[in-house]
Amino acid sequence: MNHSKRYLAHRVAQTPSSATVRIADLATEMRRNGISVLDFSAGRAAEHSPDYINQAASKALLSGNTHQTPAQGTFDYRSMVARKLERENGIFADPQTNIMATMGCKNGLTLALMATINTGDEVIVEDPCFVSYFATIGFVGGKTVAVPIRPENNFRWDMDELEKKITDRTRVILYCSPQNPTGTVHTAEDLDKIAEVAKKYNLWVVADEIYERITWDGRKHTCLATRPGMKDLSIGLMGFTKTFSMGGWRIGFMYAPEPIIRASTIFQQHLMTCAGSFTQAGAALALSDDYKPEVKAMWEDWGKRCEFVTSEINKMPKLWCKKPEGAFYGWINISETGETSHEFCERLLKEKHVALVPGTPFGPSGEKYVRMTLVKSWDDLKQGLVLIREGLA
Ligand code: PMP
Repeated sequence: MNHSKRYLAHRVAQTPSSATVRIADLATEMRRNGISVLDFSAGRAAEHSPDYINQAASKALLSGNTHQTPAQGTFDYRSMVARKLERENGIFADPQTNIMATMGCKNGLTLALMATINTGDEVIVEDPCFVSYFATIGFVGGKTVAVPIRPENNFRWDMDELEKKITDRTRVILYCSPQNPTGTVHTAEDLDKIAEVAKKYNLWVVADEIYERITWDGRKHTCLATRPGMKDLSIGLMGFTKTFSMGGWRIGFMYAPEPIIRASTIFQQHLMTCAGSFTQAGAALALSDDYKPEVKAMWEDWGKRCEFVTSEINKMPKLWCKKPEGAFYGWINISETGETSHEFCERLLKEKHVALVPGTPFGPSGEKYVRMTLVKSWDDLKQGLVLIREGLA
């Protein structure tokens, strides 16, 4: 037998484990060893998914809704998505041709890139950006081109700099708004600048809009697809993981021009078969016209937590943090501590049992930053702030 033919693919070595998951796992391991850890690493809120949505999914499950759905998702689910997009986002999407159910935004991103990227094609992303973009672009054989979003530009692209990075191989611009990790919420004017470049070079734009309802201080999320001439170039990804604390459900949706949905549906037939049947049923209810008061109250309280923690961080020596415009992370600048982001996080975890995520896996500019999830319980946040301050001493 010739063992030299048996090897692990290059993509194994090229794909580091997710930094957020790795720190959360380390914290779980410490807990198993009897150490109590305050974990602000993973992007999940303290709250569980709302009971009325749980009930709807349970009812579907118990009444026999346990079989595969069409790969594109049930028509009921897609219709609810279409109504939501029209009502809240001003987007007119046909549930037959422009919408599909996904197993969360990550699955949607994989499908969208599979439909648009050939080996060696380039995808422009923000630096810093969501850690999984690098790995997902790698899976489809694409090349990531990270263009900085700098604090001096309010964590937005300098479009001249972005335009200089466009080559013959550029196919997609991928952005996230509200942004993980910096909290930037793009205004219509910001989006028009992206639209101008996309139209000039005839590029697809993938908009990761998973945090779309999580905006602060009266800001409102705007979809790129609503900007002039952009509907045919835009692929939007939305979900329930963040807004409704439904990360374990693995459910979301994509809205896009018909050829993208058609291709993604075929890929999904082979990859996942479909999104879960009873999860689609429960999630459909989450999209109904009237958000329950408990959900609205949860969102409001998240805003207060973001405000409180970032203002407390800014009172500490050596740290600064912009209050997020949206989403629920503190992107904390640690450059004055003299430590790298990994050193800072490792020391804080070992000495103070507080878990934050190092900034480097989010992109080269992350070296000076760490990310903190701001929507843990008030008690955890208050205690965590005390420990972080002690850790700086
Ligand atoms: N996009 C961004 C920007 C995220 O922060 C996350 C979750 N951390 C995801 C996508 C993943 O979303 P989902 O759970 O819907 O796959």
